[in-house]
Amino acid sequence: MKMTRVLISILVLVITVFIVSACNSNNQESENNQEKETNTEEANNNHEAREDEETTEDQTMDEEQSNNEEKPQDEQAVKQVEVTYEINDKSSVIPIDDADEKVVLLTIDDAPDKYALEMANTLKALDANAIFFVNGHFLNTDEQKEALKKIHEMGFLIGNHTMTHQNLTKVDEKTQRQEIVDLSDLIEEVIGERPKFFRAPHGQNTNYSRELVQKEGMVLMNWTYGYDYFSPYQDAEKLKKAMISGEGPEVDVPYSLLKPGANLLMHDREWTNAALADIVTGLRDKGYTVVDPRAIKTIEQ
Ligand SMILES: [Zn+2]
Repeated sequence: MKMTRVLISILVLVITVFIVSACNSNNQESENNQEKETNTEEANNNHEAREDEETTEDQTMDEEQSNNEEKPQDEQAVKQVEVTYEINDKSSVIPIDDADEKVVLLTIDDAPDKYALEMANTLKALDANAIFFVNGHFLNTDEQKEALKKIHEMGFLIGNHTMTHQNLTKVDEKTQRQEIVDLSDLIEEVIGERPKFFRAPHGQNTNYSRELVQKEGMVLMNWTYGYDYFSPYQDAEKLKKAMISGEGPEVDVPYSLLKPGANLLMHDREWTNAALADIVTGLRDKGYTVVDPRAIKTIEQ
């Protein structure tokens, strides 16, 4: 009896030792597995880190995408563009060295009225940059200022088109100064920088306004063609055709004004907004590149 109890005790002990050791071994195995997994994960991560961003894990992609949603405006706005063009005295865009000459400049005047922000979104979706020439009388409300800020943050250039769109040849020098300098002050207040380009209302300047614009550090330009302000072309289909062909037979332009360096005048108008995407696509189909206005030489450069 005693002997049996001893044997049982020994058996229990042996079984216990076996179980404990088995457990340990399992634990160790599991730890080993975990370690292996960790190593594999690290290896994968290292591998992924070496790969293109596109091949990273979904989670990383999501993070990047959400970052991109917040950042592209800033990145776009601060993006450094090499200066490769200048505006000549005919308002055409001319390559400085060996830049592609087959370019057009897009400009949107009398902004930001009703359509400028939508036009900016259209252009942005097409990766086409432009200069928005703005007026002070469209910058009275917080909403209008916010629209200007957004357009600037999207990477578009903001140009000065005078405070109240007066014909500069019909007002005295003091008024001309107010029309020009006060708007640059206002633009700076809204977007944090002064405009580098100026376009006079109706393209009408005085000697005084030309000098002042230069002193204010702005490049003065008119345009080479535009049709959206002529009544026969205040229609999206007709405007599209005229802008892409460069011809405006209904306003005595039976020949094409579309040529390398053309400076295209458009406005914050319903029909121009409606035609804008097709105008850009049509010009590109003809082999023209929409020039990035940040590549155009400014006064300090
Ligand atoms: Zn205007």
